[in-house]
Amino acid sequence: MLDERDIVDLLNVRGAEQEELFARAREAREKVFGTRVVVRGVTEITNVCRVNCEFCPMRRDNTRENHSFRLSSEDMVAAATTIRDSGINVVFFQGGEVPQTTRLVGEAIPKIRELFDGDVEILLNLGNKRRDEFAYLFEQGATSYILKHETSDVELNEKMRHETLESRLECLRDLVDIGFKVGTGAIVGLPGQTLGSIARDLLLAQEIGAHMCSVSPFIPAPATPLADCPPGDVEITLNALAASRLLQPSWLIPSVSALAASQSGGQYRGFAAGANVLTVNFTAADHSDRYLIYGKNRFVVRSGYADGLVAEAGLQPSRSVFAGKGALPALACPALS
Ligand code: SF4
Repeated sequence: MLDERDIVDLLNVRGAEQEELFARAREAREKVFGTRVVVRGVTEITNVCRVNCEFCPMRRDNTRENHSFRLSSEDMVAAATTIRDSGINVVFFQGGEVPQTTRLVGEAIPKIRELFDGDVEILLNLGNKRRDEFAYLFEQGATSYILKHETSDVELNEKMRHETLESRLECLRDLVDIGFKVGTGAIVGLPGQTLGSIARDLLLAQEIGAHMCSVSPFIPAPATPLADCPPGDVEITLNALAASRLLQPSWLIPSVSALAASQSGGQYRGFAAGANVLTVNFTAADHSDRYLIYGKNRFVVRSGYADGLVAEAGLQPSRSVFAGKGALPALACPALS
């Protein structure tokens, strides 16, 4: 069992020691997942958000300048059809935090489940909601929900998000309690963040009872208060990813597109460090250009690139491990069992 000091030590390794860390992480991944990489198909459903995160160009203060969009339930079903036709059964909807998404997504879910004959994971990343809204989405057939805590540092979190960490943790506890497979995650390299704080991010994810955990390098995005800050360190991010794998071998851990945006070959290195999830983007091009999560020049993963990346990493694309025929019974959350 790794503690905070062990993780900080791992965050600092470089050279041969880093290679050894990555090899241990790959071995831990292989014991649970073999060579499988879960492939998700994401569609971004709205770029409107009521939150005002310092690091995000879709922040509330930018709403007037941003050209907004919001998918209807019918649009979502059409997007899910495209994802199904690509052979992917993880339908992932993400968007800004606005209450309207509850009903729109909730109405689409049963139709999407029908499209897949139930062999589908519906994964959502739509921000904080009330418990009854989460319960409604679960009853409609949603499987899993990602809500990143971003940083476990209470003060830094409030400074970055202008919301309390506690409000997010309460949502995460609700999601676990309702029965969702839950994902959380951290940003590495936020101004004022320490290595100890990053280590505690991973431990917090474990404490929550998460089934999925991501680590992303901070990208200073244009039109945000952090535009001039230095970017997050890719080596620390990769080490944090590998440490996550050692901490909880059964976690789904994505190799995020922000790694590719931060360093050429960064997403390949994410798999070398123990990641086992890749998200392919199915957002229509005109909406994708308006989903400014890292600014206009964000790196968007499309199918051809994804196939090549998984093959290059010596891995095999896989369907959902939480739903349908690909489900792994061993993936009950160890922290809760
Ligand atoms: S990071 Fe998410 S919650 Fe924060 S402003 Fe951007 S879209 Fe909204």
